[in-house]
Amino acid sequence: MEIIKIFDTTLRDGEQSPGASMNTEEKIQIAAQLERLGVDIIEAGFAAASPGDFDAVSKIAQRVQNSTICSLARAIDADIKAAGEAIAAAKMKRIHTFIATSPIHMQYKLKMTPDEVIRRAVRAVEYAREFVDDVEFSCEDAGRSEIGFMKEITDAVIEAGATTINLPDTVGFRLPSEIGAMVKEMSEYTKGRAIISVHNHNDLGLGVANSLEAITNGAGQVECTINGLGERAGNAALEEIVMAIKTRQDIFKGFDTNINTKEIYPTSRLIANITSIEPQPNKAIVGKNAFAHESGIHQDGVLKHKETYEIIRPEDIGLDMEDTLVLGKHSGRAAFKDKLAKLGFTLSDDELNSAFERFKELADKKKDIYDDDIRALVTSEMANIEKAYELVAMQLMDSTGGVPSAAVTIRHNDEDITDAGIGDGTIDAVFKTIDRITGYQGQLIDYKVKSVSQGKDALANVTVKVTFNENEPAIIGHGLSLDTMLASAKAYIGALNSYLSMEGKLKLRQMDSTETI
Ligand SMILES: [Zn+2]
Repeated sequence: MEIIKIFDTTLRDGEQSPGASMNTEEKIQIAAQLERLGVDIIEAGFAAASPGDFDAVSKIAQRVQNSTICSLARAIDADIKAAGEAIAAAKMKRIHTFIATSPIHMQYKLKMTPDEVIRRAVRAVEYAREFVDDVEFSCEDAGRSEIGFMKEITDAVIEAGATTINLPDTVGFRLPSEIGAMVKEMSEYTKGRAIISVHNHNDLGLGVANSLEAITNGAGQVECTINGLGERAGNAALEEIVMAIKTRQDIFKGFDTNINTKEIYPTSRLIANITSIEPQPNKAIVGKNAFAHESGIHQDGVLKHKETYEIIRPEDIGLDMEDTLVLGKHSGRAAFKDKLAKLGFTLSDDELNSAFERFKELADKKKDIYDDDIRALVTSEMANIEKAYELVAMQLMDSTGGVPSAAVTIRHNDEDITDAGIGDGTIDAVFKTIDRITGYQGQLIDYKVKSVSQGKDALANVTVKVTFNENEPAIIGHGLSLDTMLASAKAYIGALNSYLSMEGKLKLRQMDSTETI
């Protein structure tokens, strides 16, 4: 069996999805779950991008034991140094450096000759080898690069110490036959000297197809993300690649992965909860409808013999234990802790206590509690963030034709502060009043409300995207409550707390956003 290495970049490329930014505590929870999933390499971030990114990568490096921890770095000394230092504590570590190799990128973006590009790449790999033995080099925009030049730069970086050569289709332009031909030629050329990897984007909806074609043509590693998150139309989806290999062993004879497929669904749910980006309902493998048989003929067939219409068993991706009633009012701490472990959360005692308290409060009001309720409960308040401000009480006034107003009490430094204000609508009144109390002026960029499970008594999960300083990136806040207005206030205050916890680390990402693979 040849094991295809699964390189997950949910925390790096996935985080570049518009609106998917995560705080450090959320990234650590995701990394821990990716480790349980059996991912070979976790690209934990871009250490040089900002002090906050550095912090997240280094905390993940300290935590994860069974996956290689990787940081991306441009072919610049300062980036490589930051990457090397951030992953220093990891048991297994890799630096992933890159430079563009397509004529259009070299000429217009880098303004460098091909020889200069090779020299820069060699220097980057040599310097990276001073920190780690495992160095990956990417030919950015390989999909539009000349194969002769890629062979030349590949020879040079392998000589300098690179062990994996990645050929990203950065703009998602290529068709499977083209990727197959490129990978075949490059893997035959580098045979025994380096592992060939692919990183396919989904601009034409071909990310997964291209990755599968690469595997049968000699690639030893695929880069992918959970739920297909990523820049623009996203990256190839991990769950689709892995399940295609598993389901079509007739084609992928001799190939396997280290992924524990039963962790696929829990991982997908965790990431959907944290990022508030739900996979489309008809998304392959993890979409809400992926195993729903609506038509009568299909239902009848499935009941008589599952394989009539089902090519994957729901239990293979860990879906069998889902959506059953899990816990209720009388469930104890031990059962709750056990459930959290099954869902992939590892919490400290303090975090567990506070999550259990929230669970008990919820169980008092809501009869049926589902797995997604529990996930929302934990991910909406990642406990490690210091809560500078806490909502104590809220009173709203709104009537048709009247002026909406809100009275809010917030705890700050052990002191309760109350104020009241009016707004164009109730939410506006609440957020403006919170601003008056805290003294921070937030700009609301996005507001989303979603019901967590079914029923009129379902929890409302509100996600806000707020900027507190126009020169800094937007912050995401989550709020969870049976009451939508309360959830909104919690989400807004949560975003402020998240912002304050990152203050000083959250400088504007200085790098040119076009420079990434
Ligand atoms: Zn990418």
